[in-house]
Amino acid sequence: QTTDLAEMTEDVVDRFSLQLRQKAITVRVQVEPGLQKAWIDRDGIDQVLDNLMSNAIKYTLDGGSIVLSAKLTGAGQLSISVKDTGIGIPKKDIAHIFDRFYRVDKARSRSMGGTGLGLSIAREIVRAHGGTIGIESEPNAGTTVTVTLPMAQEGGEQP
Ligand code: ATP
Ligand code: MG
Repeated sequence: QTTDLAEMTEDVVDRFSLQLRQKAITVRVQVEPGLQKAWIDRDGIDQVLDNLMSNAIKYTLDGGSIVLSAKLTGAGQLSISVKDTGIGIPKKDIAHIFDRFYRVDKARSRSMGGTGLGLSIAREIVRAHGGTIGIESEPNAGTTVTVTLPMAQEGGEQP
């Protein structure tokens, strides 16, 4: 369906407003000017963004910040990323992070709650839409998860 990207990203932030306030995490939303409406599966992508936002909040300390951005890649794909200033992920764990039930450092993760399914579900949804999901992280500095999706701008062909 046709999705208003500014509205979609603002809505994600709204759904987490309570948790964001509780941890005093600030969020900046950046939607590339001119990139307004895209033909994507709003429900599926909402689920992906909720998983990514939930992680960004869970693994960021009080007073941190998150940037949610949407832009068009050179190849004409839609790129949506969630960048946080959180605890980051050790290099040795990066390769496994999308596996079902995989969680970094069980002691660290147990206290946070969760099952270790969020990213595997996100990847499944993204792949089902013909897209890709990638992660970049620096321990004690932060993490960026980027989702790239084939898309058509309004009025164009459906991918
Ligand atoms: P669930 O999503 O099922 O509630 P979860 O958040 O532990 O549980 P995933 O979302 O799949 O599971 O993430 C897997 C692991 O990757 C997490 O346990 C955490 O260790 C690490 N991780 C994910 N996102 C981040 C992030 N933004 N910053 C730091 N670590 C992260
Ligand atoms: Mg999660």
